[in-house]
Amino acid sequence: MRRWVAVLVSVTMALALSCSTPEKAGERQAARQELEAVDAPARQRQQQQSSAPMRRPLTTSAPEFSPRRPARVCGNLDVPLRRRWKYIVIHHSGTEAGSRAAFDRFHREERGWEGVGYNFVIGNGQGAADGLVEVTFRWERQMQGAHASDREYNEHGIGICLVGDLESGHPTAAQMEALVGLVNYLQERCDIPTEHIVGHRHIRPRGTRCPGRNFPWYEFYSRLNR
Ligand SMILES: [Zn+2]
Repeated sequence: MRRWVAVLVSVTMALALSCSTPEKAGERQAARQELEAVDAPARQRQQQQSSAPMRRPLTTSAPEFSPRRPARVCGNLDVPLRRRWKYIVIHHSGTEAGSRAAFDRFHREERGWEGVGYNFVIGNGQGAADGLVEVTFRWERQMQGAHASDREYNEHGIGICLVGDLESGHPTAAQMEALVGLVNYLQERCDIPTEHIVGHRHIRPRGTRCPGRNFPWYEFYSRLNR
């Protein structure tokens, strides 16, 4: 008797599955078409940009559409641009744990700065959620940074700090995903070429190893849209 019940249940499940599959496939197809329709203006824009010889004028309003952006953001990413951002500078914190709030306190109290020196901090699960992009007051108010030990790169470089010591450890997968999303967004938004994305040590080779020897440059560059 129990065996018959089992057979009946499995036949019913098989029927239910076979019924739902074409319907789900149809839904997926519709969703894909919808996504492609949403993507179309961005692709068109990208094609136009690749043939456009010069950079766009400074935008003063939020972007109409961005093809990629980080999934989890704390703070206001879409502020109007009020500075000519020309570079992106990648850092690691050199500490196992950290967050926007922790670096803010440290930079105020130990360095005597106005607050955290970076424009963005990306958490690693110790101090801030893994893969969370924290926007700092320097980006929200479009102020110059204090991260590059160089005037040009502080005034025109966007400083992104990955929490962690990448000399001894590695960034998490969620941090890399967030970094790629953020950099793609910033490149598109501020018209920054990939050649202008550097590590802190590329500006000051003798002064620092930041962002650490384990920062995966090849993987990072290969995942950028530009
Ligand atoms: Zn650094």
